Amino acid sequence: MTFEIVTVPCRADNYAFLVHDPDTSRTALIDAPEAAPIEAALDARGWGLDEIWITHHHGDHVEGVDALRDRFSASVTGATADAHRLPALDRKVADGDAFDFAGSQVEVLDVSGHTIGHVAFHVPKENAVFTADSLMALGCGRVFEGTPAMMWKSLSRLAALPDETTVCSGHEYTATNARFALTIEPDNPALAARAEAVFQAAEAGLPTVPSTLAEERATNPFLRAGLPEMKAALGMEGEDDIAVFAEIRGRKDRF
Ligand code: ZN
Ligand code: FE
Repeated sequence: MTFEIVTVPCRADNYAFLVHDPDTSRTALIDAPEAAPIEAALDARGWGLDEIWITHHHGDHVEGVDALRDRFSASVTGATADAHRLPALDRKVADGDAFDFAGSQVEVLDVSGHTIGHVAFHVPKENAVFTADSLMALGCGRVFEGTPAMMWKSLSRLAALPDETTVCSGHEYTATNARFALTIEPDNPALAARAEAVFQAAEAGLPTVPSTLAEERATNPFLRAGLPEMKAALGMEGEDDIAVFAEIRGRKDRF
């Protein structure tokens, strides 16, 4: 049977994700913004918690880790590069590593840029990738610790995953991202349609995460920085992809 993936809203606008294997009853959590809503989601389903996979060191992704580890004796996985500033890790991972979860391979991708040492977890068999503050729905994380070149490389690696990949990202920022994206590509019909759906969901208080990689490739301005039509839209014909990405990121920071 395939895994069940549950989106758990936390704090003001964070998402954590539960991955549950019905055959083995094993459950993993990706990021722990706070313990209470995650415990409630587990309790409502009668699930334990076996593993916690951390994407990066920011408080809004790790503050619930210790409480959840204490209650469930869960093992904690995070990046070697971030071990000094993450909760205690039982398993340290780096780019290119893979580990087993309930018989499925989980691949670790370094997606530095937002922070150095940010990782994404890709589960190919389930067509799911957990990206937190790297690739987001219609957006990407702010480049705090890395460089635009680093973030562009990270996003390009994620963009190379299959179209049908489910992108489980870390925040509900999609309505703002959509308003911004429309300023960059007002004539992109796929973006216009997605923005409309996002605004309706926001109005109804419904989550817009997860999304699919096909949607992101068609509409997310940060993934589209390498396309001739995007460069033309910005008057940056012939400039390199990183410069175009940096321009879009800069505009979003000021938006
Ligand atoms: Zn963050
Ligand atoms: Fe965050």
